[in-house]
Amino acid sequence: MKIAVTFDDAYKRQYYVAALLASRGIKTTFFVPTCLEKHPVDAEPLLSLQEVKEISRMGHEIGIHGCRHINLSSASYNEVLREVRDSKELLEEATGREVYGFAYPYGFYNSKIIDLVKQYYEYAVTVHLKHIKSCKKLVYTSRIDGHDRYTLCRLAPKSLFYAALKLLSNSAMKAEEVKIILVFHDEEPWLITTMLNIFRKIFNARFYTVKELLG
Ligand SMILES: [Zn+2]
Repeated sequence: MKIAVTFDDAYKRQYYVAALLASRGIKTTFFVPTCLEKHPVDAEPLLSLQEVKEISRMGHEIGIHGCRHINLSSASYNEVLREVRDSKELLEEATGREVYGFAYPYGFYNSKIIDLVKQYYEYAVTVHLKHIKSCKKLVYTSRIDGHDRYTLCRLAPKSLFYAALKLLSNSAMKAEEVKIILVFHDEEPWLITTMLNIFRKIFNARFYTVKELLG
């Protein structure tokens, strides 16, 4: 099994997690809201641009999670353009590295947003939550192309128990070509490393950035 591990929202404590995982040779992807210093929901402090640059230097991939982390599906076209295009330019200028991926804030998207994201990014991710019915595929077994690349579903810890049971019931899931994407937010580092260890031991999982997973 191949797993892409991702982190959303750029919580401060993710810096420690990034260093911990890098020291174990695990490269992941961080989706950063480029214009925020505090989280829009819980007001927790977020990573500074300098810290984001350092995480990039550790070998992790940096993707975009919009500028202000707004619900794009209820924003105007110009607002969406700013969140999608301008935040990419901002981060690329700051890090000097190309950005390939976009994470829809709150997981919301529609066909217009996808069309715009396609112009600037190689892929986009969403999240598997009860209220997002568009997330149909959780497990990929072949090369991921076309529309699937812009609606990549990710498993959050809340849905992992359900997913793990489903996965466990199918021994084929240990196969090399099975791909899934996990998403973490502000979980404790021990929870993240424990989960990854379980996946490694039970499913013989190997870990990648999303860009690497897509090839
Ligand atoms: Zn978010």
